[in-house]
Amino acid sequence: MPTETIPRPGDPSPGFIAEAGRCWQMVYDRNLQATHCDERPTWTGRWRSPPGDRWFIVWACPCHLDGLTGLREFGRMTGPQ
Ligand SMILES: [Zn+2]
Repeated sequence: MPTETIPRPGDPSPGFIAEAGRCWQMVYDRNLQATHCDERPTWTGRWRSPPGDRWFIVWACPCHLDGLTGLREFGRMTGPQ
């Protein structure tokens, strides 16, 4: 019998959306809706989709760099925002 894991707020969701200036990682919010991680991204990198062998340029916060390559940190020298 398969056991289903019930997601909790803050857990990563399986969705993936590459959006400029937003962390690529989707997480569950308080209502268990998938939403963008709301940390401010300070890295860009590339994420490769397994089936299509396509590369996506993504933005990521420091917590969500797993699985990305070509990482480049940005925003450090531009002063506080
Ligand atoms: Zn993040």
